[in-house]
Amino acid sequence: MSTLKERLDQIEQRIAVACECANRDAKSVTLLPVSKTFDATVIREAVGLGLNRFGENRLQEIAQKAPELSDCDVQWVVIGSVQTNKAKEVAKYATELQSLDRIELALALHKRLLDNGRTLDVLVQVKTSPEESKSGLAPELLEGFLRELVELPTLRVKGLMTMAILSEDTQAVRACFVKLRVLRDQMQAHGIEGVSLDRLSMGMSGDFEIAIEEGSTEIRVGSALFGSR
Ligand SMILES: *Cc1c(COP(=O)(O)O)cnc(C)c1O
Repeated sequence: MSTLKERLDQIEQRIAVACECANRDAKSVTLLPVSKTFDATVIREAVGLGLNRFGENRLQEIAQKAPELSDCDVQWVVIGSVQTNKAKEVAKYATELQSLDRIELALALHKRLLDNGRTLDVLVQVKTSPEESKSGLAPELLEGFLRELVELPTLRVKGLMTMAILSEDTQAVRACFVKLRVLRDQMQAHGIEGVSLDRLSMGMSGDFEIAIEEGSTEIRVGSALFGSR
């Protein structure tokens, strides 16, 4: 069994190699460790290695782990689909939400954030894969959605997120990442005031090299770092 430190080193090595191949600076890609299903002890070990942002997909799980880690500087990044009635928990725990995909959720979050007197960094999740199981906003609705978000100043839009198709066909996987990048470029060309889309969160344990080649600024890595779930 390898240690967490060894796996982290391996991932950083993979990022460095992928960046080198893509002619990119390794510092232009951030690692978001995805700690879902792993308990607070594991997260504490990761904090000891210098990690402090953690991706989680269930609010209930964050609510369980957060008190155990209250002495650590841990930032929770929500990456899973959020029911509208969980907006209060997002406003309470999350420093960032990467899975914003509909106006109902945005409105509910805005209300809670106003109550709490805070803002939230958000990425809009876009559906780039044909799979039924994948969530996210339909690409053709993105521009209208971004224009609506401008009206909600507690939500600070930073970029886009996607999950690629789960497939052995690397061309199909790559097509998802290309779709997100092209969409982002189109939105930037349309110049929506108040919206910056610098960040592209794409790539997971099995496909992040391809995502980096296609412009990812942030990879969300769970199993390659923490082990299989
Ligand atoms: C679980 C999850 C990941 C990490 O997946 P791994 O394959 O374990 O790296 C990334 N993004 C989202 C949205 C997830 O739910």
